[in-house]
Amino acid sequence: IQRIVVKVGTSTLTNENGHLDIEKIRKIVLELSNLQDKGYDVILVSSGAVGAGMGLLNINEKPKTLAEKQMLSAVGQVSLMQIYQTLFKEHNKIVGQLLLTKEEFSNRKRYLNMRNVCNAFLKRKIIPIINENDAIVSNALKIKVGDNDTMSALVSGLIDADLLIILSDIDGLYNKNPRKYEDANLIHIVGDINEDIKKMAGAEGSKFGTGGMITKIIAAEMVTKIGTSLVIASGDEPKNITRIVEKENIGTLFV
Ligand code: ADP
Repeated sequence: IQRIVVKVGTSTLTNENGHLDIEKIRKIVLELSNLQDKGYDVILVSSGAVGAGMGLLNINEKPKTLAEKQMLSAVGQVSLMQIYQTLFKEHNKIVGQLLLTKEEFSNRKRYLNMRNVCNAFLKRKIIPIINENDAIVSNALKIKVGDNDTMSALVSGLIDADLLIILSDIDGLYNKNPRKYEDANLIHIVGDINEDIKKMAGAEGSKFGTGGMITKIIAAEMVTKIGTSLVIASGDEPKNITRIVEKENIGTLFV
């Protein structure tokens, strides 16, 4: 069996108001369900909780305070999971929620415990849906992973994934930010993550995301060191998930 971690970013899950895009989520769920039916172990790392909270409370602007953001993530996490549960149920799949912190990866006992729990999920073909426990952790507490790109890389190590797929609002890594430079070119494969590659990623991301491209490059650096490949691709076309698993040349592959 091959183990696949799929990370979907805020920019993929939410629309221009920052609210959840249910139709998009429905398509992602279909892809993941199909993969599981084909015998793959599937783990989902999902952002989007804050966006879901904003939708529920009809808020259209980014939260201004940390406490407000944490509250929104708690409200939204419930509704995000409710949506996943309903949509996966249509494919007879059961999901479970795992809200993690950095401690799960830095404390050996918690790490081993988490690994056992994940394996218990996969043994029963339950799809773990993972997110940072944003309502509980803040940067000040120093127990925060900080972004779900890094989280997905850590999870890939935890469960010994063969492949990590990061879906974003962009179809891969470009040699420079394509939102700024019209002549930017998509890079199809990266074998060596050097300083040049990191420079391409720059610092900024989309309106509601937290990571940007650089956290995806760091995730790539982490997983390729342990023999896991990573593909960054566009989440606008969820069928990309299956295509990538079937080794079609989509997005940017890091090996
Ligand atoms: P997500 O919410 O999916 O994690 P982000 O918005 O955080 O996505 O990151 C993706 C964004 O990073 C792109 O939409 C683009 O604006 C920006 N970006 C900056 N540099 C690059 C680059 N070299 N190649 C691709 N995207 C880049």
